[in-house]
Amino acid sequence: MAAKTAVREGEWVAVQCAYCGGRGKDPFGVPHPKSNCAVCGGRGVVRVQEPYAPCAFCRGTGKQSMRRLTCTACKGKGVVTVPEPRGICPACGGSGRAPMEYDLPCTTCSGKGVVAASKHKT
Ligand SMILES: [Zn+2]
Ligand SMILES: [Zn+2]
Ligand SMILES: [Zn+2]
Repeated sequence: MAAKTAVREGEWVAVQCAYCGGRGKDPFGVPHPKSNCAVCGGRGVVRVQEPYAPCAFCRGTGKQSMRRLTCTACKGKGVVTVPEPRGICPACGGSGRAPMEYDLPCTTCSGKGVVAASKHKT
């Protein structure tokens, strides 16, 4: 078996919190200017499970566009866990957005933009 990456599936790793940009404070100062980031709890980092990919719905920002809300697809982390091998979501073409409802995540990929490719059965 050829190991193409060093990623160990299922391993939890720490990544910078996308919602607050690693600052640990709420990016919009809600409910208070000194409020801790609700996504990372003020730590500036969040834990995600390998293998992860940038969230397509928020483009890795962790925020919903035009709203002061955490991205519904990645919960503000900016990355989402998608098993490998994976492919572009056929329903949204990788945008992570529902074709008719731009504000809503694609129901096929849950806003991830990628879906796990069906594994070959042996
Ligand atoms: Zn944060
Ligand atoms: Zn997102
Ligand atoms: Zn999709």
